[in-house]
Amino acid sequence: MTALNIGVLGCAGRMGQEVCRQVLSSEELNLSAGVVSPQSRFVGADIGLILHRSEIGLKAIGDATEAIKNADVLIEFTSPLATMSYVHLAARYQKPILVGTTGLNDEQKQQIFKISKEIPLLLAANTSLGANLLSYLTELVAKTLDERFDIEISEKHHRLKKDAPSGTAIALGEAAARGRSTKLSQVAKYYRFGDAGVRKEGEIGFCVSRGGRIVGEHSVSFLGDVEEITLSHTCSDRRVFASGAVSAACWLTNQKAGFYTMRDVLNLNF
Ligand code: NAD
Repeated sequence: MTALNIGVLGCAGRMGQEVCRQVLSSEELNLSAGVVSPQSRFVGADIGLILHRSEIGLKAIGDATEAIKNADVLIEFTSPLATMSYVHLAARYQKPILVGTTGLNDEQKQQIFKISKEIPLLLAANTSLGANLLSYLTELVAKTLDERFDIEISEKHHRLKKDAPSGTAIALGEAAARGRSTKLSQVAKYYRFGDAGVRKEGEIGFCVSRGGRIVGEHSVSFLGDVEEITLSHTCSDRRVFASGAVSAACWLTNQKAGFYTMRDVLNLNF
């Protein structure tokens, strides 16, 4: 059996490094390329050294075109601007791509959705089984409990995380809104300040904490007058995101052009 060629876009980042380690540890997978930002000090560096290991004979590159041409599937963890250029390149060379980057705005998400008509494209704010199960359960509970239960979503991440609220928290908000047959944009309350604290019925509130090295904690509370339900997920090691991303990328190579989420991979749909 020939190994599947995986191109990792953003291979010097925290997630990219972890994805490279997972790919290198599998006999069925081949790390065909690792792409770093063209301005990165890692351009031309051996990827093994980037991963704090011995050399592996594969250098990180700053120009993604060759990497994309030679891969069977792409895994992308970078930043929203880079994501947009990479999904366009993936479409040009007809390569499936998993986008793990978060913080994309609505317009960028719409463009990604459009591009997915040309290639298999998976957009995943969180690639862990547990967080996707949490999303499924959130939708189920939101569907079951009416608006007498207030929904509040909390998340905590490490001090270096750029986007807030996290992509996972927003995806949980979207799941809760779907459960209530509405759109998150119509009911989201991203912060409360001064005298704007009183809740409106049906609102979905967010609370964000940043600090230390927290890999990712999310909870969704349904707060009633006399009872409450809280669903929560804690991730203590980003290896779980990397292995989820690698499995999902392998799955993506067998799909036709279209837009996919982790819930398709895990078969967690209503
Ligand atoms: P990071 O800052 O450690 O890594 C991002 C890397 O992308 C950096 O090395 C940066 O130099 C690089 N980069 C920027 N522009 C680039 C370009 N044009 N080409 C190649 N590389 C480029 O961040 P991280 O913790 O690895 O997270 C990356 C993204 O993944 C964030 O948006 C984060 O929220 C998201 N994330 C998603 C999941 C998930 O399960 N989907 C899990 C964790 C993090």
